[in-house]
Amino acid sequence: MLEMEEALARILAAVPAPVSETVRLSAAHKRITTGRVISPIDLPVFDNSAMDGYAVRAAEVASARADAPVRLRLAGRVAAGEGFVGEMAAGGCIRVFTGSPLPSGANAVVMQEDTQVESGKSQDILVLEPAKPWENVRLAGEDIKRGAVLVNEGDQLTAGRISLLAASGVAQINVGRQPVIGLLATGSELREPGEALGPGNIYESNRIGLSALLRQAGAVPIIFPLVPDTAQDVRAALELAFKQCDAVVTSGGVSVGEMDFIKSAFEAVGGELQFWRVAIKPGRPFVFGRHGEKFLFGLPGNPVSALVTFLLLVRPALLRWQGAMDVSLPAYSGVLAEPLANPGPRRHFIRVNVDSEGKVFSAGVQASHALSSLAKANGLVDVAPATTLLAGTAVRVLRWGD
Ligand code: AMP
Ligand code: MG
Repeated sequence: MLEMEEALARILAAVPAPVSETVRLSAAHKRITTGRVISPIDLPVFDNSAMDGYAVRAAEVASARADAPVRLRLAGRVAAGEGFVGEMAAGGCIRVFTGSPLPSGANAVVMQEDTQVESGKSQDILVLEPAKPWENVRLAGEDIKRGAVLVNEGDQLTAGRISLLAASGVAQINVGRQPVIGLLATGSELREPGEALGPGNIYESNRIGLSALLRQAGAVPIIFPLVPDTAQDVRAALELAFKQCDAVVTSGGVSVGEMDFIKSAFEAVGGELQFWRVAIKPGRPFVFGRHGEKFLFGLPGNPVSALVTFLLLVRPALLRWQGAMDVSLPAYSGVLAEPLANPGPRRHFIRVNVDSEGKVFSAGVQASHALSSLAKANGLVDVAPATTLLAGTAVRVLRWGD
């Protein structure tokens, strides 16, 4: 039985390098970049006003006070999107708005609230407060210099990053192709939600949860029909799924029972098992195999085991396949509000709920069929074998749960 780190290292070593494709920036949210992007321009593009007000020479208004205002002559107006031609003469000021290019000759902006238009003389502006040089001015290149790195290879394109790219004039970007993943659920007891249940039947719930996690990991899920527990059905389903997909994720049929056909059927359709079983709870009977350039991730059928092994062992592979550098679940520090016990011989990824103050609670019953605690959980805490963590212990919470 492999330790989880060893299993993950083997999976990541098998995953091919990302295949790059070019997409419009509007379609790039959450994709992974396959190259770094350099800014072609300065940001801001030009010196501009941070306020609605008047562009001035700072030295001319250095002495301005409410009871001793400085009078400037209004010499023009520049709206955002306009240019200012010429030079602002001494003793003058120019009406500007947020984003207006700073007129040549000016080196500060006095905000409108610190000025008055002299009554009856709309061309005379009284400045009531001094301005320091470059006050209320956003300087060209102060945010991003031309040639600076906007995103690095392997970065995920967040809303903030795509905004920065757009502001720099980038319209399309190279990202890792999204792997197409087939989802199979094996089990003769399984029925589709919405159908009637016969004796011994249960509703199938793994494909819907896994397809949500697949999409979050940037993969494209294809959901295949339910697969009954016969060697022939499992073989036929695997064969079809491997034809259509880059990898196949199965649930169920990987334990030691005589109805567990995944491993033998996978080998029968030309697959090569890489390993079976990982020393974690939930999820011990996890299977990883290669099928040419494609992969099998055989998850246990218990719904919690399926989702947790996906998060720990499959999600990283899918992200790396798209070129991501950081493939671990986001981790936050928290403090246990109650004890977490793992009396067993394998490390246990315990479902927890962490609140906004970082207090960590057990999410409830921890058995691997118990979906109520999965629904409640927003994180996992890795508890070592034969260990009880007491209330007050600082823990790392692996976050997930959207
Ligand atoms: P297995 O790994 O096939 O032995 O299944 C373990 C347990 O999980 C059994 O109780 C199954 O009925 C249940 N199970 C397997 N697959 C699913 C599924 N897709 N949805 C819900 N429960 C499942
Ligand atoms: Mg089964």
